[in-house]
Amino acid sequence: MTRPSFSVSRTGSRTGRGRGLRVAPTVIGVLAVCASLTAGAIGTPAPTPTPSPSGTPAPTPKKAEAIGYGGAVSSVDADATAIGLDVLRRGGNAADAAVATAAALGVTEPYSTGIGGGGFLVYYDAKKKRVSTVDGRETAPKAFTPTTFQNADGTALDFATVVSSGLSVGVPGTPALWDRAVRQYGTRSLNQLLAPAQRLAERGFVVDQTFHDQTAANATRFARFPATAQLFLPGGSAPEVGTVFTNPDLARSLGILRRQGVKALYRGELGRAVVSTANAPQTTDGSAVYAGLITRKDLRAYRALTKKPVVSTYEDLTVYGMPTPSSGGIAVAETLNLLEEYPGGDLGGLSEVPYLHRFAEASATAFADRNRWVGDVKGVPVRELVSQDFAAERACQLFDPEKAAARPIPFGIPDGSYGTDHCVAPATAQPAARDDHGTSHVTVADRWGNVASYTLTIEQTGGSGITVPGYGFLLNNELTDFNFVPLTAGVPDPNLPGPGKRPRSSMSPTIFTQNGKPLLAVGSPGGATIITTTLQVALGRLDRGLSLVDAIAAPRISSRNGATSDAEPAVTTTALGSGLTALGHQLKETAEIGAATAVEFRPGGKLVAAAEPTRRGGGSAAVVDEVVKP
Ligand code: GLU
Repeated sequence: MTRPSFSVSRTGSRTGRGRGLRVAPTVIGVLAVCASLTAGAIGTPAPTPTPSPSGTPAPTPKKAEAIGYGGAVSSVDADATAIGLDVLRRGGNAADAAVATAAALGVTEPYSTGIGGGGFLVYYDAKKKRVSTVDGRETAPKAFTPTTFQNADGTALDFATVVSSGLSVGVPGTPALWDRAVRQYGTRSLNQLLAPAQRLAERGFVVDQTFHDQTAANATRFARFPATAQLFLPGGSAPEVGTVFTNPDLARSLGILRRQGVKALYRGELGRAVVSTANAPQTTDGSAVYAGLITRKDLRAYRALTKKPVVSTYEDLTVYGMPTPSSGGIAVAETLNLLEEYPGGDLGGLSEVPYLHRFAEASATAFADRNRWVGDVKGVPVRELVSQDFAAERACQLFDPEKAAARPIPFGIPDGSYGTDHCVAPATAQPAARDDHGTSHVTVADRWGNVASYTLTIEQTGGSGITVPGYGFLLNNELTDFNFVPLTAGVPDPNLPGPGKRPRSSMSPTIFTQNGKPLLAVGSPGGATIITTTLQVALGRLDRGLSLVDAIAAPRISSRNGATSDAEPAVTTTALGSGLTALGHQLKETAEIGAATAVEFRPGGKLVAAAEPTRRGGGSAAVVDEVVKP
């Protein structure tokens, strides 16, 4: 099969990409790294949350950017970041710290993460100079079929009804991912790494506005499930900002996992509780909800899977992302490839409107292709979808620098046969797939150069809304990431439910390397907008000359091949919005898109950790040995 090169040539020298990222190593850096190597061993209580003089927890301070040496942690939450940083300080590595941070997020961000959910880890092993991934995605019960989410007449079950029910609950993958990550890459036991989260659940954390608001937004459905109402709506309403929230039941569950290992979930007491809760959800008013289909056999069959990453190139960089069942790695790769193919100039040299136009066209095209081709099925044409020749064909079919392509954009044919004679777009366009939000991303680097880019989720904010009674954690509603009915009649849909199948995800934990060394690690929550947020942060830093924290703060758009593209008010209410509208983009204002975290690697071991300055109430970035801003 021949791969003719395209007449659409890459324009401009994009080799300027490294500019700004190349900084000479400093003496201070070397000294700081040496100092950090003296840190002690893990095992004593972590200093979180910060106790007030009276002994009750006080809010842990946070900031959106930290620069220094010896390791870095960035997460959406200050207590979780502090716990991860403490693991690094005591000599743990990036995998250890990522697991400890994630476990703590299960306490402070229980509506987005936790042992009832799943996730994906992309890991750079500095010693082996290799990137690998762990797939901890939830699985559908064996009893699932392609029509499980359909009425007898083939129409889709009501989405919202399924969300808050046992039927949406997949076999949790998070504990298995932690176990595998720690065994494969870590240096500490899971028992040690879950200890700080257990203490945090016992002692409590200070409720912030985000936690309060997320609880309040879910109050009606939380009130429907007695164990959820009891835990998250004390006294009948969302906990007040500034009060201390404890979760002794979750502390107990973490204690069980520490003592018994993850078999407590997959073969023991915790698993039995998950199965009985999902399969017979109790409601406050006795009203019926769909029962789940999980069996103890499904739990026993669960495995977190070590997988090769999706690898692509973006100019002089190598991009590592998550393979199926996530579409994240593939869609990120295709979007970047398309941006390389679009004629008309170096991304860094464009003004904001043409840049965002290109970004929106590229991501919408990648979504058209992922919706058609990507799911947890055999034969996904991954290599073709992330190939530069496929991107070149798609670019010549669809891209007009002066005008947005009509949505929905038709999907392409990644068959290995590309050329300038294929520049007429195929006919079939599909509607955008549905998506929802409730996830968190953790980025960690250690002093040895290992990097963890880890996204974890329980799917919607609040998951299924069903708390396992006596165990203090919410069950996911991840199975609603399947398509309930085929996206287009007559077109095979790779994302229908099936026995043991993992629903397609958009989670995009990503690591960029340059000359074999990590350059940038990034990811975000946000349902399908995860893909666009991860990309926009990376492009902001790599191409648009922004600092990492400014790249995170920059106004976001998300074009996912729907009739409209989401855009934050900083786009819709400014010249950016009118400029994009003039090019034919239909924008839909969305208050906030995503909540990214990232770490940048500079020469000499210098690290820049960054989180959101404001979205979701602001995230928390920290480094082991902080230096004053350069
Ligand atoms: N369940 C979604 C996915 O896997 C993530 C949800 C979210 O980020 O809010 O793509």
